[in-house]
This record gives sequence, structure tokens and C-alpha cells, in this order.
Amino acid sequence: MPKTKKNKKTILTKSNKFDLLKSVKGMPDILPKDGAWWKSIIQTGQSVSELHDFHFIETPILEPATLFELAVGASTDIIEKEMYVFKTKGGDRVALRPEGTAPVVRSYIEHHLGYFASPLKVYYYGPMFRYGRPQAGRERQFHQFGFEILSDNDPVYDGEIILVALEFLKSLKFKNLSLKINTIGCKICRSNYREKLRKYYQDIKSKLCCDCERRLEKNPFRLLDCKNENCMPLRNNAPIILDYLCQNCNNHFKTVLELIEDNNISYEPDPYLVRGLDYYNRTVFEIYSLDFKWALAGGGRYDYLSEMLGGRCIPGVGVAIGIERLIETMKLQQMTPHLKLKPRLLFAAVGDQAKKASLRLMNELRSNGIVVIEALGKKSLRAQMKIADKFKVPLVLIFGQKEFFEKTIIVRDMKTGAQESIILSKLVEEVKKRIK
Ligand SMILES: [Zn+2]
Ligand SMILES: [Zn+2]
Repeated sequence: MPKTKKNKKTILTKSNKFDLLKSVKGMPDILPKDGAWWKSIIQTGQSVSELHDFHFIETPILEPATLFELAVGASTDIIEKEMYVFKTKGGDRVALRPEGTAPVVRSYIEHHLGYFASPLKVYYYGPMFRYGRPQAGRERQFHQFGFEILSDNDPVYDGEIILVALEFLKSLKFKNLSLKINTIGCKICRSNYREKLRKYYQDIKSKLCCDCERRLEKNPFRLLDCKNENCMPLRNNAPIILDYLCQNCNNHFKTVLELIEDNNISYEPDPYLVRGLDYYNRTVFEIYSLDFKWALAGGGRYDYLSEMLGGRCIPGVGVAIGIERLIETMKLQQMTPHLKLKPRLLFAAVGDQAKKASLRLMNELRSNGIVVIEALGKKSLRAQMKIADKFKVPLVLIFGQKEFFEKTIIVRDMKTGAQESIILSKLVEEVKKRIK
């Protein structure tokens, strides 16, 4: 017996140590090896935002839990099962944000942002949190890049949001994209349709899965979304909203589709696309990768969201793009991240005096926009040169004791192997000539 006890103790200590050095389940680190992907996506998102006149906004990761309960809707999976909610030491009930739109609207109301720009066009990026079952490609902490246009319900902005999301994806060199689009009407026509839908499913209630049965009264739209194989065929005979739209919603949707056609965007109307969140109305859409049959971006209009939060009417439209999904898709398609700045040369130095002077010289190059890599901690030139091969830089600068005294430096062209000596006072000029 004592033996077992001893063993148990050892195992426990080991596993505790192990857990301490592991990130929380579903919340992976983003490692330097993937850095180029993240940078290229965020840089691209930022340039597309600038071109389309969207301005940066960042809201906190924590918000009052009620914000999301009111906006996203109590009967959604996000609120029912997936939101991280807890009480602070001061007793406030807060939540890790599960999505980015409600916080932006909260910020708009709080800071009267409509006073500064109308409409207000903003973009954001950052982590979101949903406590789902972790599975490949769907972690509990994930990142979104989002665009929102607030305080205008003109269909031109639905078009602009779809365009900016597509431009973002196209700038990253995505091909074979498809736009699925639908409208879910306004307060008036939507409630008519909702009743028809509820009735339709009520009559076949015995065939529904447990989730659908439970949602039938509160949120019948969600039944169209159910992935259960018994439920999916049932929607084929379900009524579609297009038959129940009011005149205004009909015109709005028609204009959105005209704008899309006008911009040569191919689209696929999907009468059963509803998107799971309560705050959506009128236009809803998803951008799909045809090669992988999964959504890269999703969004829609949310004209009532501000009122749901207790504010005045502030219409809006937005889109969110999942960064992890983008990277996964780009890797599967063997695309490469493209960065504004690539390492162009390695700086190698041998000898104490030369090494000491290296920092100043490298800084001079860097101040002139040249990305320099180095491995100065390694003593031998050979070991330093290995890094040049690894990162495939076209040029290496070699700075030894002799060069230090002669105030020169050796430039080696890695492609041809040719070496020549240049004077230090012309370093930047000479390097620029060679890496054009
Ligand atoms: Zn309507
Ligand atoms: Zn179902």
C-alpha cells in the first residue's frame, strides 16, 4: 500500500507541473513561425481599411455580460452555452466578448461617435471568446477582423461592406469565392414570416431534433440553420421570407443585389441563410471558399441593435472575418504570406571591435528601411552565414577586423557568390543599389 501512495504522489506532482506550463484549453499561442501569416493578414486588412476610409477602433475584451445577452439574444448558442461570464471582485457581471459588433455599437452610443462622422466607418481586429468544444480550426479564443458602418440604412452601405470584405480577401489572393446572400426583413415583415415558419414547423414537430423543438417557440429562424440530418431536409418545404417581405424591405434588398451585380460580384441567393444572432435584420450574407465549402466571412445589417441596448435608433451594417480560418485556408491552398518588408540582407561580423561597431551600422541600414538580420552571438563566420541560407537573403555583409581598420565592408551576392569591398561611408547607398 505505501508503495502505491508514493507513486500516486509522484504522478500528481508531475502532472501539475505539466499543466502549469500549458496554455488554457482552447486558447493556443500564436507562435513566431506563424508570425508572417498574422502580419500579412493584419497589414492587408489595414491597407484595405485605409483605401475604403474605415477608421481604427478597439474596444475592451471584457464587457458587461448583459450587453451580449441583449444584442446576440438569450436563445442563441453563444449566450446559452458559449459565453465566458463571471463576476469581478467588485461584483460586476462581465463577459469575455464573443463577438465584436455589440461592443462597437456600445462605444458609438457612449462616445456619441455619430457627432464626429456620419456614417461612421470603423474596423477592428482582436480576440473573441466562445466556450465551445475545441476542435481543429475552432478554438475557444479566436480572432476576427471586422468592418462596421454605423448610422445609415442606405443599401449602398450594405454593398460597401460586402465589397470591402471581398477586397480584403482578394488582396490576400483568395480565388474561387462565392457570396451567399439573403434578407431577413424588418420588424414588421419578419414577424409575419416568423409566425408562418413557426406554424410550418409546429405541424411537423414530432420530426424535429431536441434543439429545434426547444427553439421552435423562441426563435424559429434557427431551425433553418439546424445541421441535424433529420432536420435539414425539412426546410426544403419551409416558407421563404422573400414571399413575405414588405415593400421597403423588398426595395432595399433589390438595390443591394443591383449594387452587387454592378460590381461584377457573382452571388448565390440563399433563402435559408439567417445567421444565428438576434440583432440581424434585412441583408445577411456569407462569403464562401468554393474549394473548401466553408465560410471565410459573415455579416449583415443590424438596424435595431442600438435600440435593443436601450439607445436611440442607429442603423448599421458590418462583417467579420475569421483570421484563423483564413490562415488555415491559405496554408491548404499553398499560398504564401506576403509582407511589406522582407529580410534582404544578413550582417555578419567577426572580431570584437567589428562586432561592437555592427550595431551602429545595422541601425543605419534599418533607419533607411532595409530589413537586416544577424546572428552576431555566433562566433564563427560560417555559423553566421548559415542563417543567410536559412532565410534565403540575397545579400550578406561581412565585417571583420581588417575591414574595421580600413573602414570598408565586404558585400557578397548570395546568388553569384561574387564579393567586393565597399567603403563604409557609402554603405546605405551601395546596399540600396544591390537590393533594388
Ligand atoms: Zn420589412
Ligand atoms: Zn434540428
